[in-house]
Amino acid sequence: MTEKRYWFNCTVIAACPNCGKQSVEKLMMASLSENPDLINEKTKLMQFACQLCKKPFPDGVALEIGVFPSGEHDSDSSVN
Ligand SMILES: [Zn+2]
Repeated sequence: MTEKRYWFNCTVIAACPNCGKQSVEKLMMASLSENPDLINEKTKLMQFACQLCKKPFPDGVALEIGVFPSGEHDSDSSVN
């Protein structure tokens, strides 16, 4: 089995209601699909915390999610 994995660079930006600052979190996500919309949907279901005060964002905080294909992919299913 050689399933390709596509890597995406994700950026999650939110105005933190706890400390009043803008939190920017960057993470990498792997997907079997090269469709960035699927990553976006997945990211919306994740729980994020402020990068500055480390408190989780309460419900209702607007997250600005950017998904950018990294251009890398591999066929190693042992990743993650
Ligand atoms: Zn904060």
